[in-house]
Amino acid sequence: MESNQQDDLEPNKDDLPLRANTNHILVRHYVLDLNVDFQTEVIGGSIVLFLDPCREPYRTGELDLVSPSQTGDLNSPYVHDGEKARDFAIRAPELMVSQGSQNDASNMSWDDVSKDFTLILDCCDLLVSKVEEVDVCTVTELRNLLEVDQVALDSTQVSSFGLVQRLISIPSARWRQQQDLYLQCSCAHAVGQTEPLLFHMDQWSLQIRKKGVQSPHAFPRALRIWYKTKATGGSVRWTKDQDGGCCVYTMGSPINNRALFPCQEPPVAMSTWRARVKAPCECMVLMSGENQAVPVPDETGFLQWDYYVTMPMPASTFTIAVGKWQEAKSLPHNHEEGQSEEPCANSDRRNFDYPGSWPENRSSKNQSSHYKEEDEEKFCAHVDYPCRFMHKTSVAQVVIPRRVFAPSCHLHKAESTLLPLLPFCLAAAHSVLGIHPFSRLDVLIVPPGFSSLGMAR
Ligand SMILES: [Zn+2]
Repeated sequence: MESNQQDDLEPNKDDLPLRANTNHILVRHYVLDLNVDFQTEVIGGSIVLFLDPCREPYRTGELDLVSPSQTGDLNSPYVHDGEKARDFAIRAPELMVSQGSQNDASNMSWDDVSKDFTLILDCCDLLVSKVEEVDVCTVTELRNLLEVDQVALDSTQVSSFGLVQRLISIPSARWRQQQDLYLQCSCAHAVGQTEPLLFHMDQWSLQIRKKGVQSPHAFPRALRIWYKTKATGGSVRWTKDQDGGCCVYTMGSPINNRALFPCQEPPVAMSTWRARVKAPCECMVLMSGENQAVPVPDETGFLQWDYYVTMPMPASTFTIAVGKWQEAKSLPHNHEEGQSEEPCANSDRRNFDYPGSWPENRSSKNQSSHYKEEDEEKFCAHVDYPCRFMHKTSVAQVVIPRRVFAPSCHLHKAESTLLPLLPFCLAAAHSVLGIHPFSRLDVLIVPPGFSSLGMAR
């Protein structure tokens, strides 16, 4: 597919450019810490990326970007192929120079012929204010983990690499510890006495360098990016629900989540994530996490919702919806009660955790619920994660926990029609397709206006 100008890209028809250099380095985990502001219609905060350089040796001359002499050709095809995407990147014009204003580094001109390694992330319409290296060496629990495993700690630099590598490699049986350590690391300070990392944005990417670092293997393994969404960003839709209340949600955008957070979009990029989202008290935050989050009050008067996934997935599968939704209740028991409840109180009370198939509910006896190793091999050949296919109880679970949320004007219909229908739908899906790959289902009635089938992209 050809496009004459980048501006002419029609996301509904054209393939999106894939700029992320996943051939050099992969994001293994994202930790998002975000605020949802309905006054300004901005989602802002930080995202921490945990990076894993690819095994192949990297040649310094192998630049991903960008020489002024090569920026003239705008007739670049938009392609999904990783190598071609790199070619595209070489020809892409620079449309914006460092939008951030708080970061001194961002005010320096971007050196197009730098020999330094460039991390390229797919994104658009984000306001990035700062990119910094996270000092994971200050996380005591993580250092302990490494010392227990008898890995030598040399210089700070070496140990931060080793620490993140070790963190990424924690086996799936200890996924909860891994998630917890990722979170602790994401809260660590930036590495002291170093300049913030250099960054640069063009229309479809965020590019990051560390001065003097020329290979992905020497590039920082944990980065924090401070940013905000733009009102013009196409990943989320700010609108009114059917009751007239404010809401925002990922509406299956043809640009995926690129205007929501910087990420890697080539198909090879699969990551786990955790997101802590602060929203006004009267709102409910629903996400495509594996857990059912229980909100906790934040010092700002907002509520904080904490979601995560343990299955590595494309960044485009990340979904969020924030609004004054109500949870539909089963009619015979508490219909009247359910109608009048506030969403916050509502979800507090409904804090049921994972189904019984999940590792943390098995404690030390969890081995007994696993298939034997030879059975596991028959089922799965993917990277190590706590896969439901390996747990007998999940395999036998015809109907998974499900909830329905709706604005109050549609609550009765949701309770009388949709909620009772779901067990039949889930059972039918199970009989045709087998094991439910996810532990739970939330259905949300959003305002009309989905522009596309989000997952189809
Ligand atoms: Zn599996």
